[in-house]
Amino acid sequence: MRLGIMGGTFDPVHYGHLVIAEVARTEFSLDCVVWVPAGDPPHKDERVSSEEHRYAMVVLATGTNPDFRVSRMELEREGPSYTLDTVRGFREEHPEADLFFITGADAILEILTWHRHEELVRLCRFIGVTRPGYDLARVNTVLPAAYLEQISTISAPGVDLSSTDVRTRVRAGQPIRYLVPEAVEAYVRKHGLYRET
Ligand code: NAP
Repeated sequence: MRLGIMGGTFDPVHYGHLVIAEVARTEFSLDCVVWVPAGDPPHKDERVSSEEHRYAMVVLATGTNPDFRVSRMELEREGPSYTLDTVRGFREEHPEADLFFITGADAILEILTWHRHEELVRLCRFIGVTRPGYDLARVNTVLPAAYLEQISTISAPGVDLSSTDVRTRVRAGQPIRYLVPEAVEAYVRKHGLYRET
C-alpha cells in the first residue's frame, strides 16, 4: 500500500491544497491520500480557527474524491501536533505501507526546523510540490544529502493562493467563490469565520 499524508493547518482549505494532493496521488500512484488537519500547529504564532471548523471544512472539500480520507489523529492527540508523532501513528496503523508526506515547496525548506526531523525523515518519504518558477536549486543547497534521498519534488499547476489570502478577502468583504470549494465557501459564511482579525 502506498499512502499519502497531506498535513496542514487548512485555515481554510483551498484549491491550491486540493491540486497538490491530487497531483501527488496520481504521479506517485498512491492508493489514497489521508488529510490530517493539525490540532495545535506548533509553527503558527497567530491564532488559528478552531480545530473542529478546520476539520469540517476539509471533510467538505475532500468528500467527492473517493481516494481522499480525513483523519482526526492530530485533533485527538494532546499537545503540539508534531509531524513525527503523526507519521509514527500511521506507521503503527499500517506497518507494511510506504508512507509519503505531501508538502508545499516552501514547507520542504523548513524541514530542518521541525521537531526531531532526523528521525522523521527516516520514517517516511516526502513529496515536495513546487510551484511554477520555483528554484529547485534552493532545496538542493539547503538540505543535507541524506534528506534529499527521501524527498521527491514534483510540480503542480500553479494556484497562486494561500489560506492567508482567503482570510484577508473574507475580512475585506471580497468574494472567495472559485478559490475554495462551494461547500467551504458556504461553511465560512454560515459560521462567520474570518470576519475579524
Ligand atoms: P497549510 O498552510 O495549511 O498548507 C498545507 C500545505 O499546502 C503546505 O505544505 C503548503 O506549502 C501547501 N500549499 C498551500 N497553498 C499552496 C498552493 N497555492 N500551492 C501549492 N502548495 C500550497 O499547512 P502548514 O501550516 O504549512 O503545515 C504543513 C504541514 O507541516 C502540517 O502537517 C504541519 O503540522 C507540518 N509542520 C510540522 C512541524 C513540526 O512537526 N514541528 C513544523 C511545521 C509544519 P507551502 O508552505 O509551501 O505553501
